Amino acid sequence: MSASGRMPAAAHRLASEAETVIIGGGIMGLGIAYELARRGRSDVHVLEQEYLTSGASGRNGGGVRMQWSTELNIRLMQESMEICRDFASELGINVWLRQGGYLFLIRGQAELAQLERSVALQNRCGVPTRILTPQEALRIVPELNPKSFVAACYNPRDGVVFPWPFLWGYAHAASELGVQIHTYTKVTAIDVLGPNRFVVHTSKGPIRCERVINAAGAWSPAIAKLVGVELPNHPHRHEILATESLKPFLKPLVSVLSSGLYFSQSMRGEIVGGITVPDHDDGQVHLGSRLRFLEDMAADLLSVMPVLSQVRVLRQWAGPYDVSPDGLPILGEHPALPGFYLVCGFVGYGFMMAPVIARYYAELLCGGSRHPVFDRCRLSRFADGTSERELMLIG
Ligand SMILES: Cc1cc2nc3c(=O)[nH]c(=O)nc-3n(C[C@H](O)[C@H](O)[C@H](O)COP(=O)(O)OP(=O)(O)OC[C@H]3O[C@@H](n4cnc5c(N)ncnc54)[C@H](O)[C@@H]3O)c2cc1C
Repeated sequence: MSASGRMPAAAHRLASEAETVIIGGGIMGLGIAYELARRGRSDVHVLEQEYLTSGASGRNGGGVRMQWSTELNIRLMQESMEICRDFASELGINVWLRQGGYLFLIRGQAELAQLERSVALQNRCGVPTRILTPQEALRIVPELNPKSFVAACYNPRDGVVFPWPFLWGYAHAASELGVQIHTYTKVTAIDVLGPNRFVVHTSKGPIRCERVINAAGAWSPAIAKLVGVELPNHPHRHEILATESLKPFLKPLVSVLSSGLYFSQSMRGEIVGGITVPDHDDGQVHLGSRLRFLEDMAADLLSVMPVLSQVRVLRQWAGPYDVSPDGLPILGEHPALPGFYLVCGFVGYGFMMAPVIARYYAELLCGGSRHPVFDRCRLSRFADGTSERELMLIG
């Protein structure tokens, strides 16, 4: 039972057979499980090596935004935002969606030119983002240091959610529909017996299935190796902190794309934020906290908002970004392995994408329509050179 008191229940014994095995009990795995079950395909087993909020989905900043540089991501996030808005009534759990906007601070002229193009594209898609002068930005956040940026862009409809209830909501609803969720069940090996025939070996025994969905986030390259597949995404440690609580004063999430800084004020009043810090990339997931992060974070945060200089940091933690070479995810069935599906490479925005991706993934798996995202984000784009880079990445 989780702190929410709503967790699905009793641990099931691992069945010997299932139609679908999903590896990873993060937002992607649970979202797809729920959407499959909602369509009547509930012979689904989710295998999670630890507890449900142990991966990136339980460690992130909860930002949800429609400001992107590719039309694909803008349109997907418009839909995802709708699902986030309806989530509480559909799944009966409050995810604390607060639409205070996203305010991106721009530090250089080249960056401004690129963001102007992105804002024009967002406007064409119906997202009301505006480019602001520093003085206009100060009307939204008066505590900003106007010397730390040359312009800003702002969409008042972006926002922040509290991530954990999202996971609990999906897990609870999926379980009610018959999905089996196995925590502390680590996948250790996978036998490929033929097309759509697998045996997934776990710390709790083997399970035979027709379909495997690799939703292991930053661990997905390691899972793919179990079936002899090399993926181009790799894990990157991303650190984040929370301060003591302050009287509510900050409405939007503020971010500086060029440094990877972002921060918002939580519903409890804490400043929650992170920054990109270089790390050694050895292909392993690292989750330790570093002093270097605190130093970089403090320096950049205070250059943007000096008024925070006396605020105490209460805790810091890290989570794994799952970085793909072009910043777009990797989706769909592996071309050489019928029945082996990928849903990974979401860098630092998989949480906000999960509601819409899970919906289209389930539709595809149930024989429904194939959303264009599956062609744009297919694994083979890296080999045939057709990838297009998403530029508005934090980190
Ligand atoms: C600090 C931080 C801040 C972020 N901020 C944002 C944000 O503001 N907005 C946003 O949208 N996104 C954000 N992200 C990114 C977002 O959290 C991820 O993209 C998203 O949670 C990925 O979900 P997932 O289900 O693919 O992966 P995960 O949540 O990592 O789930 C994968 C699961 O697979 C399990 N697993 C791995 N190996 C095995 C195995 N062998 N057997 C069984 N289970 C296994 C792991 O334990 C893990 O629970 C942030 C990420 C971090 C780290």
